[in-house]
Formats: sequence, structure tokens, C-alpha cells
Amino acid sequence: MTAQQKPDFDSIVIGAGFAGLALIHYLREAGQSVRVFDKASDIGGTWTWNRYPGAMTDSESYYYCLTFSRELLQEWSWTRRYPDWEETHRYMHFVADKIDAWPSIQLETEVVSADYQNDTGLWLVTTGDGKTHTCKYFISGMGMISEPVIPKIKGMDTFKGPLFHSSRWPQEGLDYAGKRVGIIGAGATTVQMTPVMAETAESVTVFQRTPNFILPAMQKPMTPEWEADIKSHYDDIVAKCRNHVFGMAFDSPVGRNYADTAPEDAQRIFEENWTGSFRWVFETFDDLLSNPDANKAASQFIIDKMKERIDDPEIAELLTPSTDDYPLFAKRPPLDHGYLESFNRDNVHLVDIKDREPIVEITETGVRTTENDYEFDIIVLATGFRAYTGALEAFPIRGKSGQSLAEKWQETSNSIMGVCVADFPNLFIITGPQAPFANLPTSIEQNAMWIADCIKKMEGDGYDLFEPRQDAEDEWSAHVSEVHEQTLMAEGDKVNSWMMGANIENHKPRVLIYFGGANVYYDKLRESVNDGFPELEFRRLAG
Ligand code: NAP
Repeated sequence: MTAQQKPDFDSIVIGAGFAGLALIHYLREAGQSVRVFDKASDIGGTWTWNRYPGAMTDSESYYYCLTFSRELLQEWSWTRRYPDWEETHRYMHFVADKIDAWPSIQLETEVVSADYQNDTGLWLVTTGDGKTHTCKYFISGMGMISEPVIPKIKGMDTFKGPLFHSSRWPQEGLDYAGKRVGIIGAGATTVQMTPVMAETAESVTVFQRTPNFILPAMQKPMTPEWEADIKSHYDDIVAKCRNHVFGMAFDSPVGRNYADTAPEDAQRIFEENWTGSFRWVFETFDDLLSNPDANKAASQFIIDKMKERIDDPEIAELLTPSTDDYPLFAKRPPLDHGYLESFNRDNVHLVDIKDREPIVEITETGVRTTENDYEFDIIVLATGFRAYTGALEAFPIRGKSGQSLAEKWQETSNSIMGVCVADFPNLFIITGPQAPFANLPTSIEQNAMWIADCIKKMEGDGYDLFEPRQDAEDEWSAHVSEVHEQTLMAEGDKVNSWMMGANIENHKPRVLIYFGGANVYYDKLRESVNDGFPELEFRRLAG
């Protein structure tokens, strides 16, 4: 090996969403030159791609944001409890302007391959325009739910109207007023999209395979009093997120288990806390996701609440899971802004494609099931994502041995805390596989800080590269699996949960998420920094 040459950039980041913006801030602070590539024509990541009607955050606005600057937190005003994609997108522009991120960002630039060069210790990054770029650190900020799953349905290319995945909503917009819309899939995206489209579409027909436990969002405007209260407590809010199992600003653990509560008290507690958002799961009892009886009681409570809102008992039955189907949170529950009530309208229809009439094919004019032909002007595939690994496997990212991440992850998707991968020197991933599933800005910032600290050590001590240790990866993956087995989320493979990659055809389900608590994970990241990154071997090139 020769001495390391000067790269074009210290760090190259893919993705100009929350991760890209956070990295620009933290890496500049670490004295790094950064180039962020994004294939989209605007910054925003998820909030640029997912422009479907009704798209909004499921985390509450005031903690679905970056916290590195108190000024940013104080200056931005959210208009409501959950912002839609446009508001979130405006917020991201506000952040980009405030931190002067634009000179570091290159849009409409797709990375098509990235190769670690053993001789130089640099990454060679090739973009779609045929250009190559070198960097010392290659960082993925591509997001853990960004690579769409396109189902293989016979005849899909014959449909005459627009047919696209929900996350590829036409950027110029789509006029669906007065049109007949078919939506394949019934997850969080469909739950958001349906009631909004139903307001003006001629009809909306949802093709559902598996019903979900659907929690109410209970949207509300941000009042001046609420905003003032938030802004006077931002340090507490940030601390709450940092110390919560899902990175959210909730008051939990509540120190109360369902197992120790009388049934009538449990019902009262469930009822009193029915105030919208995922809060209900975390601010009622601490054992809902680990104790099967607690989980069943919570599931039944949700089912009863769901059924109250649907007029037609037959539709209500179809839209609700049974407590025997799968535990609450084995699939990620959607938050509802009027989805269930939308089935009370004459122009919204539900088709059970699991038991009653599976889809046979897509035709020139619509969808053919075993029982009926449905005619549509537009078909939306709201069929989910190849979570955690999809974006990292969509083009070759090749490490020291020449093996790509996709090749490495055929059976399992192991990593070190979701941020590093053995055989991939100087590669960092923001929220990679085996990181927690949590309020994403919180996790993104924790990862970005760890990365910046690691780079500071590399540069401060004059290292050329770090090699993630195989034994550290084995140890982390074993720990993640062990924890996973102790939760009810481990049953996700029975119901195609993306949280285990079980939604992907011909793909072995695997442990993709660390369920030991995001707060515990953030502590482990800090410990790693304090202990000098024992998961990594630091090296200098000879020369
Ligand atoms: P999803 O939850 O994975 O749902 C996909 C839906 O498509 C499921 O109903 C699935 O049925 C169905 N499906 C998949 N392949 C199919 C096929 N070949 N034929 C028929 N149906 C098929 O996807 P999503 O709704 O896009 O949501 C994914 C995740 O993105 C969410 O869980 C959430 O984490 C995130 N998201 C977040 C927000 C937010 O925070 N605001 C909004 C939307 C999405 P089965 O269930 O039977 O497999």
C-alpha cells in the first residue's frame, strides 16, 4: 500500500434528507469537507419522494426535527401536531438555509457504484453522469424506508393509465379528481392516502391482504400557548427523546405493568390515554410489547375502537385483525386521520384479496380478481419498502474483499450497531440494519454524532482507515437476535412484516431491528465513543 492520496472530498454522503442535513452540520463541525449527492431534484429525502395526498409524519412535529441548534428549534414554528409532507419539506429547506447547506449538496446526481480501493484506502464513488469521485469516508444517509417493493403482478405493464408506487408519486402532481383510483396494499401509506383522495376522486378502492391495528392520530393545530410551552421546555423534550425506547418525547416508562393491574383499572387506563399517536402504546403500560396477555388486551381495545367508527359490520370485520392473527406491533401500526370513517362513504370500497378474491392480474383497464373486474383510471402500488437494506443493495457498494453489501447480506443483514459493517473500511451507515426503529431524527442525530466523533479520532490520531471488526459484528448481531426473540415483534415473519424483511418475496426473514430500546442503543453509541471505538481497528497505510 502507498500513503493515502488526497481525496476529492473528506466525506461523500448519499441522501439529502434529514441524515444528509445532520451530517453536513456534524461533519463540518469536525472540520470535514462534505459532498452530499442525491438523485432527487430537491432535498428532503422521504419528504421529497412521498408526495402522495395525505402524506404526513406519524411522529409529532415538535420532536420530528433536528436538535443540534437551539436557534433552529426556537425559530421554526410548526402549524399542527403532525405536519404534512409540504410543511416538513419547508422545514428542511429552512434548516438547509440556516446552516448554509446548499454548497455541500449536489442534486439530480445518482450514485451508481461505490468501491473501496485497497491500494489507496479511499472510496471511489461513481455517479450516473459517468464521473468518479474519491473520498476518505463514504456515508449512507439513504434512509431505512426508501427502496420501494414493486410486486410482480401479471399484466402490470398493460394498464393504460398511470400506475406507480406510492413513494414515486408524480413530482408534478396528479389530478385524481373525478377519477377511479385503485390502491393495492393497506399499510400506513394507504391509511393516510385514502381519506384525502376520497374527497375528490370518483371512487377509491383498496385491495387489502392483511388488516392492521390502526391507532387514531387525533390531529390538532399548534396553538400559541402550546408552542410557547414547547419552546420553553425544549431541553426536556430533547432529553425525553434521547431517553425513550423509540426516541420519542413520551413520558415513559410509566412504571406500571398490565400484569399487575386489575382488568377494570386497565380498561380505564387504556381509555384515559386514548389521546392519539403512538403515545398510547408507551404511556399506558410498560409490558404491552413483551407480555402476550397485555398485548392481547391492548389489541382488543384497539379493535373495539376501530369497529365503533365503521358503519358496515362486514367492512368493520374485514378492516380489523383478530387478536389471534398477530400481536400488536408485529406489524408497524398505522396512524389514522379518517381512514376508517372513509369506508362509510359511498365512493370508498374495500376488496379482501386474501381470503375472498385474490388478484389474478392487472389488465388494460384495471384489476382482475378471482371474482370481479375492477375498472380504474389510476392504480397506486402502496406495497411497501425493502426496509433497512434496500437502498444499500440497490447498487453495488463493494468493500475490502470486493464483495458487495447485497452479496454479504443474502442470509442475514449483520452490522455493528447499524453504523458499520465488517469488510467495509471507512464506510458509515445512518440507521442501517440492526439499528433501532425509532423517531428517525433522534436516531439520525445520534448516529451522525457517533460518526463525527469517530472521524475526529481518525483525523486527530492520524489514521488512514478503520476496519470494523468481524467479532464485534458477530457479537452485536447475536445480541440483537437475542433481544428480538424476547419481544412479540419476533412474530412479524408470520405476517410479512417489513420489520423482518418478511415482506420481500424469496427473501429469508431476518432480524433487521434492534429492539433493546433506542435509549439503550444511544447509550451504547456513547460508550463506544468513550471507550475509543473498540469495535473498530484503526490503521495507517505504509508509505
Ligand atoms: P407496508 O406497511 O409495508 O404496507 C404494504 C401493503 O402492501 C400491505 O398491506 C401489504 O400486504 C401490501 N402488499 C404488499 N405486496 C403486495 C402484493 N403483492 N399484493 C397485494 N398486496 C401487497 O407499506 P407502507 O404502507 O408504505 O408503509 C411502510 C412503512 O413506511 C410504515 O410502516 C411506516 O414505518 C413508514 N411510513 C411512515 C409514514 C409516516 O410516518 N408518516 C407514512 C407511511 C409510511 P400484507 O400486509 O399482507 O403484506
